Amino acid sequence: MRVTVLGSAQDAGLPQVGADHPLDEAARRRALPRRTASSLLVETATGRLLLDAGPDLRQQWADRRGLPDAVVLTHAHMGHYTGLVHFGEEGANTPGLPVLVTPAMATFLTSHEPWRTLVTGGCLRLSVGFDHDVAGASVRLIPVPHRGEHSDTVAVSVDDALLYLPDIDSWDAWPDALEVISDHRVAFCDATFWSDDEVPGRDQAQIPHPLVPDTVTRFTDVATRIVLTHLNHTNPLCDPASPEAAEVAAAGFEVAFDGMTVSI
Ligand SMILES: [Zn+2]
Ligand SMILES: [Zn+2]
Repeated sequence: MRVTVLGSAQDAGLPQVGADHPLDEAARRRALPRRTASSLLVETATGRLLLDAGPDLRQQWADRRGLPDAVVLTHAHMGHYTGLVHFGEEGANTPGLPVLVTPAMATFLTSHEPWRTLVTGGCLRLSVGFDHDVAGASVRLIPVPHRGEHSDTVAVSVDDALLYLPDIDSWDAWPDALEVISDHRVAFCDATFWSDDEVPGRDQAQIPHPLVPDTVTRFTDVATRIVLTHLNHTNPLCDPASPEAAEVAAAGFEVAFDGMTVSI
């Protein structure tokens, strides 16, 4: 399969609306690459899967024709599903586009507008469950701990080879982490924050994520190709020339960027 990183940022992208962090300013003047909300395109021998449909979907899909064969959603935070609006009647008006979701995510979508109308009006056809066969691939949704005010959260496994895990509260809260990551050839993992004091004025206990140095330490001996993604606009890894980027590269980890491709 061929994987294209459509977006490599935390939900709100880089530069983030209203933010004036030096990384935002650098991206604004194009001294750094801009990043859109985390999403992957997976091309199998017979079809295309879109993993997460975020607010930047129109821009992410601008160079592509047609539609994905199915959309897979990880959870109901804004960077991961709000792009579904582009499949509604004001946009692609898709006839029953398959959307793979957990039962909790299905309940969320069918309980709130405008998502409810996308389902009842027939633009989206929810495929509810944790195991799916679609577009020539086997897709498993693996529950992971993450702030659950709207839905549960899953990692996505495609053909037991690719793992997409954009959001998790902590590695300690998920005892299966090492085994699940080790079982895949390539894993795109949550790298939202580099350090605890990265977002001034905001209590990071309210927005928990593993810190990148901890992730690198934990998984340094794993044979899996680990690609760090879902970078917050404050994360120094947004700058490919930063000392932090050199540090993770030296440890054998990669940092995702918009447009990156990986063959598995
Ligand atoms: Zn997110
Ligand atoms: Zn989230």
